[in-house]
Amino acid sequence: MISRRKAMMSMGALTGAVIASNASAQQSCDVFTPPTQASTTPDSALQMLKDGNDRFVAGRTRNCDLMKQVKETADQQSPIATIVGCIDSRVPPEMVFDQRLGDIFAARIAGNFVNTDILGSLEFATKLAGSKLIVVLGHTNCGAIKGAADDAKLGNLTAMLANIRPSLAKLNYSGVPSSKDKKLVQMLADQNAKDAAKMIVDKSEVIATLVKEGKVKIVSAMHDISTGKVSWYG
Ligand SMILES: [Zn+2]
Repeated sequence: MISRRKAMMSMGALTGAVIASNASAQQSCDVFTPPTQASTTPDSALQMLKDGNDRFVAGRTRNCDLMKQVKETADQQSPIATIVGCIDSRVPPEMVFDQRLGDIFAARIAGNFVNTDILGSLEFATKLAGSKLIVVLGHTNCGAIKGAADDAKLGNLTAMLANIRPSLAKLNYSGVPSSKDKKLVQMLADQNAKDAAKMIVDKSEVIATLVKEGKVKIVSAMHDISTGKVSWYG
C-alpha cells in the first residue's frame, strides 16, 4: 500500500515533470504575428532556438498542424530569426531548431559563407521583415569546408570555394592543407562561421546599425551532425 506521504511525493514529482515538459514546449504552434514578433527580443529569439534544438536532440519535437500554419501565414510572415546555413541535406535549420512555418528565414549556401546576395537577403529579413536574430550555422564534416581545404577546382565551385579560403589563411597551419586532416577541417568550419558572422556587420551598414541599436543580434554556432546538437560560440 502506498502511504499518503509517498503518494504526495510522487504527485510532486509528477508536477515537476509537467512543468519541465511545459518549459521544453514553451514555443507553441501559434504562428508569429507582427505583435508577437515585435515583443520578441534578440535574446528571447536565441533562447527559442536553443530550446528548439534541445527538443530536437531529445526527440520531442513539436507536432504542429502545418496546414493550419499555411493558412495562418498566407497573408503575412513575422519570423523571429534568420539562419545562414549550409545546403547539406543533414542540417535543415527548421528541423534542427524545431521551428515551423513562418518562424525563421533560412539562407542556405554550401559552406555557409556570406556574399552580397546573402547580405541583401539578411537586410530584407531584418530591416524590412523584422527578424531579431541572425545565426551563422556551420556544421561538422562539411563537404564545402573540405573542398576549400583541398583547394578543389570544379566549374563554378572553384569561385564559390574562394569565399571560404580567407578563413583558411587565418589559421595557424603549417604544411599543405588537406581534408584528410579532420582537426583542420573542424578548425576551418569554426573559423568560417565566426568570420561570416563578423562579415555581416563589416559589410552591411544596414545590419550594423540594427545591431548598434540593439534591435538585432548576430551569433555563430556549430551543428554536430553526429549528435544533432548545436553548440554556440561565446
Ligand atoms: Zn556543409
